[in-house]
Amino acid sequence: MSEVDVLGMARKQLAVAAQYLDLDEGLVQVLGMPRRQVIVNFPVVMDNGEVNVYQGYRVQHNSGRGPTKGGIRYHPHVDLDETTALSMWMTWKCAVVNIPYGGAKGGVKVNTKQLSKRELEKLTRRFITEINIVVGERSDIPAPDIGTNAQVMAWIMDTLSMQAGYTVPGVVTGKPLELGGSEGRVEATGRGVVVTAIEACKSMNKPFAGQKVVIQGFGNVGSVAAELAEENGAVVVGVSDATGGIYNPKGLPVRELYQRYSGVEGGIRNYKDAEPLSNEELLELPCDILMPCAIQGQLTAENADKVKAHLVVEGANGPTTLEADQILSDKGIPVVPDILANAGGVVASYFEWVQDLQNFFWSEDQVNERLAAIMRNSYAAVHETQAKHKTDLRTAAMIIAVERVARATTTRGIFP
Ligand code: NAD
Repeated sequence: MSEVDVLGMARKQLAVAAQYLDLDEGLVQVLGMPRRQVIVNFPVVMDNGEVNVYQGYRVQHNSGRGPTKGGIRYHPHVDLDETTALSMWMTWKCAVVNIPYGGAKGGVKVNTKQLSKRELEKLTRRFITEINIVVGERSDIPAPDIGTNAQVMAWIMDTLSMQAGYTVPGVVTGKPLELGGSEGRVEATGRGVVVTAIEACKSMNKPFAGQKVVIQGFGNVGSVAAELAEENGAVVVGVSDATGGIYNPKGLPVRELYQRYSGVEGGIRNYKDAEPLSNEELLELPCDILMPCAIQGQLTAENADKVKAHLVVEGANGPTTLEADQILSDKGIPVVPDILANAGGVVASYFEWVQDLQNFFWSEDQVNERLAAIMRNSYAAVHETQAKHKTDLRTAAMIIAVERVARATTTRGIFP
């Protein structure tokens, strides 16, 4: 989706963690490669009767710790390398929060803005049929990602259930509540971002309340993070979406922005009691906490030096390049890495899957409490590992994750 080499980035992050763990070269090779990459080319009959052929992918990175798990992305720039990198990050993400999954990712190269609802449904049903040889409630469980939502997950669940001959809710997560979705799932990623930001502030001996927060991206993750940051006493001074950003050092009315300006023509820039600025300028605003919650490759060698925040919490996947990581580290700005900060979504997906398999559903409070406990414990473990190895939070999170996956892989042994 961006010009950044995300697969190279994911492999370098693995190499750094492997050095700390003194892993066998063969094992590093196993962990650096996806277990399975499926490429499908499939036709869809459009509303006007014409046939379009789309390319889609499902990549399963590692299943050492359990079934694989990961979202399905619909975007014109989706490709095999990006899907592979995202599947690797899913493996580490599930391992760092210690849920029993390996990582996967899927996607279709498509601009959904050019599709009618009917075409989107047909594309989804055909794509999931093409990859149904590798997905399943005990093998590989998809979820939403950029360009897909609860309705798309409902079509996936229905298609796979029709093919099985009975309803299989556990085959996909992020479903609507009435189809076996979980309370709290929609807000879970943003909630996890804020829980980890609060923990990071504690470890820096700062109260979260009163911190000035800037958030890039005002979609699912960014808007929920903004609302919960405000609920916990922080002041959200800047937000942006794909149309650009707005800034008011006295604070922005988060709920009003979401309810009245988000998703409408012109986006949040229609709000007038704030200074309009570009997404590039937004990242360089004076603030305490910067939360990149939009897309990858946003903090780079070009702009990292200009970041004025005292803490970066990654809501998006891969928003900071390796060069930017180094620059931020040299400036003494901690970065709570994506595999930890945005893991709330997959934790709630795990809760949804557990509830589906048991046909026994939890209250929203139960989901939120269990989610917060996992995020707090995971942050504490990463913080402790950081201190032990005198490194940064990303490397510490990777050390924990890679060690867990490596241990599972060696304990299981290599078949046959
Ligand atoms: P979304 O589509 O709901 O929102 C994305 C937001 O980013 C929108 O406000 C959009 O306008 C904005 N945006 C798009 N391009 C931009 C650009 N070039 N500059 C600035 N803003 C831009 O997506 P989401 O679900 O909120 O996901 C955001 C990020 O979080 C992605 O990297 C995704 O992979 C990651 N993530 C999401 C979840 C989840 O549960 N939704 C879980 C883990 C990670």
